[in-house]
Amino acid sequence: MNRSNVTILGAGLCGSLLAIILARRGIEVTMLERAPDPREVLAVGGRSINLAMAARGIRGLKHAGVFDKVEPLLVPMKGRRIHNLDGTTEFHRYGQDETEVIYSVSRADLNRILVEAAGAEPGVNIRFNQEAVSYDPEESSLSVRNLENGSDYDVRATPLIASDGAGSVVRRAFADTDIIGGTEDLLQHRYKELVIPGNPDGGFRMDKNALHIWPRGGFMLIALPNPAGDFTLTLFLPVEGKFSFASLDTDNKVESFFDEHFPDAAPLIDDLIGTWNRNPAGVLGTVRSKHWHDAGKVLLIGDAAHAVVPFHGQGMNLTFEDCVVLDQVLENFAADWAAIFEIFENEQIKNANAIADMALENYVEMRDTVREPKHLLRRDLAFALEKRLPNRFIPRYSMIMFHAEIPYAVAQSRGILQQTLLEELTECAESMDDVDLDAAVDLVVSRLAPVH
Ligand SMILES: Cc1cc2nc3c(=O)[nH]c(=O)nc-3n(C[C@H](O)[C@H](O)[C@H](O)COP(=O)(O)OP(=O)(O)OC[C@H]3O[C@@H](n4cnc5c(N)ncnc54)[C@H](O)[C@@H]3O)c2cc1C
Repeated sequence: MNRSNVTILGAGLCGSLLAIILARRGIEVTMLERAPDPREVLAVGGRSINLAMAARGIRGLKHAGVFDKVEPLLVPMKGRRIHNLDGTTEFHRYGQDETEVIYSVSRADLNRILVEAAGAEPGVNIRFNQEAVSYDPEESSLSVRNLENGSDYDVRATPLIASDGAGSVVRRAFADTDIIGGTEDLLQHRYKELVIPGNPDGGFRMDKNALHIWPRGGFMLIALPNPAGDFTLTLFLPVEGKFSFASLDTDNKVESFFDEHFPDAAPLIDDLIGTWNRNPAGVLGTVRSKHWHDAGKVLLIGDAAHAVVPFHGQGMNLTFEDCVVLDQVLENFAADWAAIFEIFENEQIKNANAIADMALENYVEMRDTVREPKHLLRRDLAFALEKRLPNRFIPRYSMIMFHAEIPYAVAQSRGILQQTLLEELTECAESMDDVDLDAAVDLVVSRLAPVH
């Protein structure tokens, strides 16, 4: 079998990490990327400027040997800082202790580091400004436009690994077939990014080590810190309705909306109206595919196979997990590409579907239930149970964010059992004083198997 060279479409987060991993296995990689070389151009704003990185993302970077280059860029976020309408705030820690934190990282810096590392591998050839226009599954042929001179050419590439993101040209080429059979479910909410600049002396204007949330029921604003002292804000808002992108159709309405719903954030935002009008309202959606490969010819990976909504901060983390899992399959199975892609899909598709569901659920938690006293009581009880039974009861959020060794599908199924237990145990309780912790421990032991 020829395992000596592959073509990767898309040198984004997934494609560039995968190129490093494959090159270290002695596989020659040609990468085609629509965008200009990130080592030479400044990032364009408006598309998720920073990302939350958790255990699975870190594991992927360590696996590829590039974590030490990324680590200095990470800003730890220890919990959620909830901003109430009256201007008061509450801090809810994410984990059991200070070791359980997530990190904010700049998408552009991360992508540049990965491209640099991929480009430094002998055997990796990255061609920027090359846009795939279409893919012909019958001929395994990719039509590419060279954006530097406008010329078109075909690439006959097998295997082709498509990491060209949620709008994948390759996945869409299979839209009407059963081979891959993708669905794209757009959320009726969009997002827009804004900025709170740092203090002139470089300090932060809000708590630096937190992910800030302004939960407002039907919509929410969040803010993630950047190393330079500024915060990237993201407003998630319905497309239509009373409070929506459609209803905010004048500068005055935008200003009043922020003053009314985010009174502590509004005065800190830099050039609210200018940024609002400049930045696009980004689309949010879930991509699922029945299959991720066409025999040994094509594999979809990353968002191209399975985009998820960003409310659990897991899309990139999942794509990095994909790269690790594919590499493990390559390590353990000396078969042909068709078998490798099949094993990879079987291993990972259930996990992608699980986090897609959980990410949608988390939107409701972040914008709404996070404010409810019962939710906070259940969170406290979950931490207390984890302390007593660390191998048996791990809060679902922690399984997803801090336990890369627990597959998403396992976190989902255990999470359902745990939620039922938490609901039962807090049904008549107002505070932790009303919960009989010893009885709760016994109940958990009787219903929940230890984590393997
Ligand atoms: C608002 C928002 C916030 C997010 N926050 C988080 C977060 O906090 N944590 C997290 O883990 N994830 C987050 N995500 C998800 C994360 O951004 C994605 O999961 C991740 O970028 C997927 O990586 P990828 O390489 O598969 O796709 P992409 O990052 O989309 O990369 C695809 C690459 O392919 C190139 N390309 C596309 N089409 C073509 C073509 N036709 N020809 C050639 N090249 C092409 C693109 O230029 C790009 O470089 C967020 C997403 C959004 C929208």
